[in-house]
Amino acid sequence: MVMYLVVALLAGVVLGFGLRRGGRAFRTFRGMRVLTCPENRKPAAVELGAWHVALTAILGRPVAQVRDCSRWPERRHCDQACVREILGAPKAALVQTILASWCHYNACVCCGAPLATMHVGPHQPHLINREFRIFEWKEVPPQDLPQTLRSCEPVCETCLVSETHTW
Ligand SMILES: [Zn+2]
Repeated sequence: MVMYLVVALLAGVVLGFGLRRGGRAFRTFRGMRVLTCPENRKPAAVELGAWHVALTAILGRPVAQVRDCSRWPERRHCDQACVREILGAPKAALVQTILASWCHYNACVCCGAPLATMHVGPHQPHLINREFRIFEWKEVPPQDLPQTLRSCEPVCETCLVSETHTW
């Protein structure tokens, strides 16, 4: 009886460690990323199969592979060389990281208020382009986001509300 309890306890510990590794792998590798495609050296929006990474991490060695890419389906059978770059710096190319960095280093073009405290979530960053059109970053295809952020200015929530009420 004691033997069964020890085996069950050990199995529970091993399973617990595996699930923890899987959960950590899922949180690390989920989300859309924008990086330079190693093949054509142009921006591409890439999403890894986070569930696949998590399940393989539970079973042993995590295996990462591309689930979707803005260059697909034309380049569906590429060698997925971008995966190595993602494994080397999992957070760097995340859309959330790119937006957070943009907010951190910019101020509202209307009132000058810093955007460092703006959260990517309920209060979405807004952009204004050279034609004075205001739009949300979600309207931009992810692979175009870095270029769009370079050519636009941010507008804070307060200015956006006051501007849209006077137009
Ligand atoms: Zn403002």
